[in-house]
Amino acid sequence: MTRPRPPLAPPLARLPEEWEGPARALGGRAFHGRQIFRWIMARGITDPGKMTDLPSGLRTKLGEAGGLSVLETTAVRRAADHTRKLLVRMADGATVETVLIPGVTGPRRRGHEAPASVAEPGVEEDADAAAAVDDEEEPDAEGGPVRVTQCISTQVGCAMGCVFCASGVAGLARQMGPDEIVAQVLWGRRELDADEQLRNVVFMGMGEPLHNYDATARALRLLSHPDGIGLSSRRITVSTSGLVPEIARLGADFGGQVGLAISLHAADDETRTRLMPINKKYPLATLMEALRAYPLPRRRRITIEYTLVAGRNDDPSEARKLGRLLRGLPVKVNLIPMNPIEASTLGPPDAGRILAFQGALIDAGYSCFIRRRRGDDVDAACGQLALLGARRKVRVNRE
Ligand code: SAH
Ligand code: SF4
Repeated sequence: MTRPRPPLAPPLARLPEEWEGPARALGGRAFHGRQIFRWIMARGITDPGKMTDLPSGLRTKLGEAGGLSVLETTAVRRAADHTRKLLVRMADGATVETVLIPGVTGPRRRGHEAPASVAEPGVEEDADAAAAVDDEEEPDAEGGPVRVTQCISTQVGCAMGCVFCASGVAGLARQMGPDEIVAQVLWGRRELDADEQLRNVVFMGMGEPLHNYDATARALRLLSHPDGIGLSSRRITVSTSGLVPEIARLGADFGGQVGLAISLHAADDETRTRLMPINKKYPLATLMEALRAYPLPRRRRITIEYTLVAGRNDDPSEARKLGRLLRGLPVKVNLIPMNPIEASTLGPPDAGRILAFQGALIDAGYSCFIRRRRGDDVDAACGQLALLGARRKVRVNRE
């Protein structure tokens, strides 16, 4: 008995071997399929008319088959620190956002750095979300390309309902397809400056990537395929609010090569459940077990994200509790002072309290960074992505 064939992935989400059949069906040869993959993923060309080494009949049929223009960039906003936020619209009109975050070192950037929210001499401070990716990242070479980290979305809104997050407050509108997820990188690459190079991708935009597991996993395979965009898995980080079964799946499917960031935000169940309802389903003990079981390669660390919310989880005693919770795990901690959102009165602690929290974790022996706010002037900071889209929708509706 032959097993039923899995349904064909949408065009932009096909791996090279998955293009062979469609290429033949459109009158070409199997190797043309692999060429199509390279045109799309390596060169970023999605207009079949420009795929010059394909037979013209195949180009025409590929164009007629459609499915290569799943996104449209409707706005690009550039912040003073060169962070760019792209608003992208999908075929059904739904919009999400993706953010390009250039490294802060390198010749061009000097003198253009945005002031960090709580910068102080001697304070260990993270450059940006890129630091979630690679522990042993060497600094940008003088005269070399500026390395860019792209933050991408996986869902329109989010079902997890975290109280400090604009996506959570908005709820889940729909899942994104793997083609839409990966297209953010293809379209994002077009917005890079001549001296920039895409270096890292972080799944830290709108949505919970592991709540859209199959699409996320396919996007990971596409992004890391050597004939395409060619990002190594360790330059890709998936951030999750802690979906335990899917953390295990991710670890098994990718052998622990994909970077993992965990949104922890609290060191006891009561506090965490108040901030993140998902904690009821997967409480801290279960989550910690999943982290211990993650097949992390040697010398790699799990990133622990901790959004500091004034009066909720920011007491130095909570930092000490966090230190005890994480004991023995290979982690680094990224503190993210909460970015205010329209739907909530919650906010970040003052600088003194943030530094005290960091100090307590450093005293406990952890690498602990305060995430610099990037792209502030274009609302591109963590958790704010849904906000602008929502505001815009309201405005459109009123017109
Ligand atoms: N859903 C995933 C990934 C997207 S959110 C997750 O929760 O991990 C990326 C990070 O931004 C998460 O750590 C999230 O908790 C944090 N975040 C969300 N809203 C925020 C806000 N208003 N201020 C600061 N960080 C926020
Ligand atoms: Fe969803 Fe992450 Fe926002 Fe929580 S923090 S609501 S999981 S996007």
